[in-house]
Amino acid sequence: MVKCSGKSVLKGIAAGKLYLYRKKEFVLTQEKVGDPEAEIERFEEARQKACSQLDVLYEKAVKEAGEEQAMIFDVHRIMLDDGDYLDAIREEIRSTGVNAAYAVNVTGERFAQMFASMDDDYMKARSADVLDISRRVAGILAGAGEEGIVSDEPVILLADDLAPSETVQIDKSRILALVTREGSTNSHTAILARSMNIPALVQTDVELKEEYHGKPAVVDGFEGALYIEPQEDLLAGLLRRKEEADRARAELEMLKGLDNVTSDGRRIDVYANIGSVEDVDRALEADAGGIGLFRSEFIYLGRNDFPSEEEQFEIYREVLSRMGGKKVVIRTLDIGADKQADYFELPKEENPAMGYRAIRICLTRQEIFRTQLRAIWRASVYGTAAVMFPMIISVKEIRKIREIVEDVKRELAAEGIPFGNVETGIMVETPAAAVISDELAKEVEFFSIGTNDLTQYTLAIDRQNQRLESFYDAHHEAVLRLIGMTVKNAHAAGIWCGICGELGADTSLTETFLNMGVDELSVSPSSVLGVRKAVRDL
Ligand code: PEP
Ligand code: MG
Repeated sequence: MVKCSGKSVLKGIAAGKLYLYRKKEFVLTQEKVGDPEAEIERFEEARQKACSQLDVLYEKAVKEAGEEQAMIFDVHRIMLDDGDYLDAIREEIRSTGVNAAYAVNVTGERFAQMFASMDDDYMKARSADVLDISRRVAGILAGAGEEGIVSDEPVILLADDLAPSETVQIDKSRILALVTREGSTNSHTAILARSMNIPALVQTDVELKEEYHGKPAVVDGFEGALYIEPQEDLLAGLLRRKEEADRARAELEMLKGLDNVTSDGRRIDVYANIGSVEDVDRALEADAGGIGLFRSEFIYLGRNDFPSEEEQFEIYREVLSRMGGKKVVIRTLDIGADKQADYFELPKEENPAMGYRAIRICLTRQEIFRTQLRAIWRASVYGTAAVMFPMIISVKEIRKIREIVEDVKRELAAEGIPFGNVETGIMVETPAAAVISDELAKEVEFFSIGTNDLTQYTLAIDRQNQRLESFYDAHHEAVLRLIGMTVKNAHAAGIWCGICGELGADTSLTETFLNMGVDELSVSPSSVLGVRKAVRDL
């Protein structure tokens, strides 16, 4: 038995087989080969393997996301059969005598540049695809592992770290628990684990040994431990603890349908945070009063190109319809920092959390913003929609946003496209917004406090930096005062104020929030009933 320790993100126990998640990262080297024809043969084998991978991905995507989403894998498959591309790679190996992985890479880059310089938008967009397929084949040649999970049974995922763009691609129904070597308890990996309601450990002192793949293991989220090949008595003890936890969970189920009200009659809304259409089921199952934060940027992650207005419209429409009239607060695109998608071609920055992200991108690349706003306003006909804007620091930004929104509405009206009323608010997640919340409150219909970023910026502590976790104090008086001040200013202006950061689920603060007059707490679906219990126990 091997015992490893990590920081627990969610209390719970999961037992199952380990699955070593390998990134597609690999080091590409240029080498001379003795026999170019044999190297061409190796290339051909790798190409065929890539084709089979794409076939599997296509089938999986059709089942899970539909034909349209799956199409990209079909396009890649066709590109891998393209005569010009294949001849160019073979020629590169023959004429220069380099290794196949290197030849694939340089040829891919050459073709990508050629596509990028074309006038036709469709062909331009193929530039990213040719890089993608080249990377896939070069990765196989360089011995990199396959990304994603290829397993018939649910597993405990063991990884170095997971970027948000990777987590969106993972099939969540196949994960029992997440264990990473890196990551902080405030990272989006942690948020994902909470939303999935599965045990997770970050900063775990586990080696990613090949031999661990497939080994039985158990994750103890209460103690922050991972046991590989656990001893029988230990496993039995943990499984008993799991049963207890399941029983406590079942007791929480009894709270479904009840109000979030204290014994002295104070009530608060408890909503859920989601990142996808699938999460709506979890929110409904947890009896959430609405969606207080739909992280819309997850629609943009893990793909090769911008989602179209139509695609987004369908997603928002589905979320709104499934929520059946309950409020859905859609947070507009919050890309940048740790949430990266290559096709945005964002510049590398020294300090990305304080950089070009969220509303700053939307206000400077308005075509992206307008597409999203059109989709949201169109979908608003199908339910009770609200929209909020992330990373706001000034009144000027809100006024600019309002101008764009009005323009988008005029455009829709002129095209005869129906749209509904959308309640409009902002996230208060910068100290600047909290400090001038009296001014900002006059401009909008609600506030939602993003305590994850508010804490990071107030304490000047990067929420991703695991070395700083001992300094990260989410209960810091400065953060609590900013929250209190924001709520007060919201109410003085006659608007409501919620909390959608992770702190909203911290039941040791539920009473503090009620005393401050917070109107809504939006938490991961798995925390909804726990927060309800905390409110009712007061
Ligand atoms: C926050 O910052 O608190 C928040 C809810 O947004 P995110 O965690 O997505 O940055
Ligand atoms: Mg934030």
